[in-house]
Amino acid sequence: MPAPAAPAAPGAVGAPLVDTHGRVHRDLRISLTDRCSLRCTYCMPEQGNEWLAKTSILTLDEIERVARVAAADGITTFRLTGGEPLLRTDIVEVVRRLAAISGPDGRPVEIAMTTNGIRLPEVLPALIDAGLARLNISLDTLRRDRFRELTRRDRLDDVLAAIAAASASPLRPLKLNAVAMRDVNDDELVDLVEFAIAHDAQMRFIEQMPLDAGHTWDRARMVTQDEILAALGRRWRLTPVPGRGGAPAARWMLDDGPHSVGVIASVTAPFCGDCDRLRLTADGQLRNCLFSTTEYDLLPVLREGAATARLDSHARSRTEDPAVLERARNGQDEAPEAGVDRMLRACVRGKLPGHAINDPAFLQPARGMNAIGG
Ligand code: SAM
Ligand code: SF4
Repeated sequence: MPAPAAPAAPGAVGAPLVDTHGRVHRDLRISLTDRCSLRCTYCMPEQGNEWLAKTSILTLDEIERVARVAAADGITTFRLTGGEPLLRTDIVEVVRRLAAISGPDGRPVEIAMTTNGIRLPEVLPALIDAGLARLNISLDTLRRDRFRELTRRDRLDDVLAAIAAASASPLRPLKLNAVAMRDVNDDELVDLVEFAIAHDAQMRFIEQMPLDAGHTWDRARMVTQDEILAALGRRWRLTPVPGRGGAPAARWMLDDGPHSVGVIASVTAPFCGDCDRLRLTADGQLRNCLFSTTEYDLLPVLREGAATARLDSHARSRTEDPAVLERARNGQDEAPEAGVDRMLRACVRGKLPGHAINDPAFLQPARGMNAIGG
């Protein structure tokens, strides 16, 4: 293991990413594409998607450059997501390159992935060999007709094969994610937990969030955490598991364990106070919250060289750092790593104490979940 680096001064490359509310950022969600093999109703429209321009999608080298700076700044987990991350033809190489990165303490970063599972069995051994440590697989229903209706694709068998392959692999904890939806799958909550237990996985239910590209979210149709717990409580004795930390899911032990269930209640029980997450979209936009309407553009920093990044009004509007503005005025160059670091810090500095889903003035982000990265 390499020797740990000396601690960096606050605000310099290598210093932790602490926001104005004292939250230290440790987790970067990297969206690899906005494309997907499914069309889940709560995420993407059936047709009429406005895809990100192919030329704007970050390359493997660009992702690695951002990840190296993020790791130096204290990010310890990279979660690969999308869209569907397994649609990236270079997915194994992405995992391999990121898994080779170490933090300032010399420890390797952890690579996790959220996937719908399609294509997973054929690439899973290579992903594990490349350094993938953890998997979350999405599964909203066990019924083929419902799956077809919900995802607009007849691919349940592929997802079940993926879960079987993941269950047979050494990756643990294995998590299965379902968005709970009224009159769609809310009669399957117990079945899904039993299915997860049978696969040595942890089931997690997600409250539906206003992030569908079609803007069709309806609060009344959202199944709440209380309703989820009430349904599960009729089958199991539920005991809260302490020590959640920055995790989005609150967990409950089922009877005397060892199995547990998680609920991600972003709408009715927000967990923003402990949020340690940042997001990087497939087209190089840094985001400090799923629900943010502000993005911090890394493309000029990564592509057009420091000079253009300095003069780009969009990028300049993202920083209030007087030293950076002074350098820009003087036409001084900035190393690309310093540019990435500057944007990471501007993004963290701009993070609000919490999202405003429950505020009547809430504005849904223009991007759908598939283009933000869940
Ligand atoms: N395609 C992969 C998948 O489905 O696992 C990764 C990307 S997907 C956007 C990541 C997660 O976001 C999935 O578990 C999905 O169920 C969840 N998700 C998508 N849209 C959502 C919404 N409107 N509300 C809550 N969860 C959502
Ligand atoms: Fe695709 Fe995942 Fe969105 Fe479903 S939730 S459409 S699988 S990106």
